[in-house]
Amino acid sequence: MNPLDLFDLRASLSQDEQLVQDSVARLVDTRVLPIIQDCFEHHRFPRELVPELAALGLLGASLEGYGCAGLNAIASGLICQELERGDSALRSFVSVQSSLVMYPIWAYGSEAQKQQYLPRMARGELIGCFGLTEPHGGSDPANMKTRARRSGGDWLISGSKMWITNGAIADTCVCWAETEEGIRGFIIDKGTPGFTASEIEHKFSLRASSTGALFFDEVRVPEAQRLPGAGGLKGPLSCLTQARYGISWGVIGAAQACLAQLIEYTGSRQLFGRPLADNQAIQVRLAEMARGITTAQMLALQLGRLKDRGALKPVQVSLAKWHNCRMALDVARDCRDMLGASGISAEYAPIRHMLNLESVITYEGTETIHQLSVGRALTGRNAF
Ligand SMILES: Cc1cc2nc3c(=O)[nH]c(=O)nc-3n(C[C@H](O)[C@H](O)[C@H](O)COP(=O)(O)OP(=O)(O)OC[C@H]3O[C@@H](n4cnc5c(N)ncnc54)[C@H](O)[C@@H]3O)c2cc1C
Repeated sequence: MNPLDLFDLRASLSQDEQLVQDSVARLVDTRVLPIIQDCFEHHRFPRELVPELAALGLLGASLEGYGCAGLNAIASGLICQELERGDSALRSFVSVQSSLVMYPIWAYGSEAQKQQYLPRMARGELIGCFGLTEPHGGSDPANMKTRARRSGGDWLISGSKMWITNGAIADTCVCWAETEEGIRGFIIDKGTPGFTASEIEHKFSLRASSTGALFFDEVRVPEAQRLPGAGGLKGPLSCLTQARYGISWGVIGAAQACLAQLIEYTGSRQLFGRPLADNQAIQVRLAEMARGITTAQMLALQLGRLKDRGALKPVQVSLAKWHNCRMALDVARDCRDMLGASGISAEYAPIRHMLNLESVITYEGTETIHQLSVGRALTGRNAF
C-alpha cells in the first residue's frame, strides 16, 4: 500500500494519465529535487528547466491545438501535483503560463493572437505573466485603478500591478485594465515603450519563483493587442478558476513530499530508546496528515471529473482551493515541528514547502475570500 495514496487513486487513472504522472515525476526527481534547495536559498528561478517543461508538453497542456497537448483535466491536475511535490515555484510558473496567459489568449484572443503567441508559449520560447493585482488590494479586483483609454486606433494604458508571478522575466503580459466600456484584457509585450517591470526582492516564500511589479506609463498598444472576446471581470476570473483548479491538485504534492520525508525521519530518529514513530502521539499526527491528503485527493479527483464533463462551478473550485491549501499548509507546519531543530533547515523539505504555501494560500484568492464565496453560495448573500 502506498502511504501517500491510501485510497489507491492511481488505480482509477487511465493509462495515459499514469504515463503523464510518471513522466513529470521523473522530471521532478531527476532535474528539480537536486537543485531546488539551492534555488530557494539563492532566490533563483530555475529558468534552465523551461525547455524541459515545454518538451514534456506541460505548458498549456490542457489546451487544444496551437502546439498544445490537449490533455484532460485529471492529467493536467496530476502535472500540477507532481511539479509541486518538487516546489510550488515550478507549479506556479506552469500555472501562470498555462492558465493565466495561454488560456485567456486561447479563449478570448483573435486567431492572429493565438497564432502569434500560443505555439511559442507552448515551446517555452515566450514566457508570460498575468497582471491583475494592484498595490492597493488584490481581493477586490473590481476596484481597478489601471486605466486604458482609446487614442485613435490604439489604447493608452497607465497604472501598476503588484505581486506578479514571472513579472520581471516575462516576454509578454496579459494585463487587465479598466476602460470606459468596462474591464478589458491587453497583451503587452516586453519592450513596449512605457512598460517596465522590476523584481520583488526579500521574499521569504516562493523564493525559487520570480515575482515582479509592473508599471505602465502611457503605454500605447494597438487595438489588435486587445483580447476581443474578454469583457468585464469575468474574463480574468475565468482564468483564475482554471489556475485555482491546478492549485487544488498541486498542493497535494507539497503535502505528500512533507509526509514522505516524515515517515522516513520518524522511523529512523531514536529518542527514549526507540524510533520516534513508535510513539502514539507521532502516529496520530501522521495519520491526521494522511486523512488530510486523502480527502484532498478525493476532492481534486471529483473536481477533475466535473471539469472534464464541462460541469465545474467556480464555488466548487473555491472550496477545493481553500480546503486543499489549508490541509497542505497544516501538514507542512506539523512536519516542520516533528523534525525538531532540523525542521528549520532548508536541508529538509517541510520548511520550504511551508513557506511556499503561505503564498499559495494567499494568491488566487485568499482563504477568507474563498470561504466568503462558499458562504455566498450557501446563503445567497454577498458578504464581501
Ligand atoms: C508570490 C505571489 C505571487 C502572486 N502572483 C500573482 C500574479 O501572477 N498575478 C496577479 O494578478 N496577482 C498575483 N498575486 C497577488 C495575489 O493574488 C494577491 O496577493 C491576493 O489576491 C490578495 O491580495 P492582497 O495581497 O492585496 O491582500 P488584500 O486584498 O489586501 O487582503 C488582505 C487581507 O484581508 C482579507 N480580506 C480581504 N477582503 C476581505 C473581506 N471582505 N472580509 C474579510 N477579510 C477580507 C484577506 O483575506 C487578507 O487576509 C501573487 C501574490 C503572491 C504572494
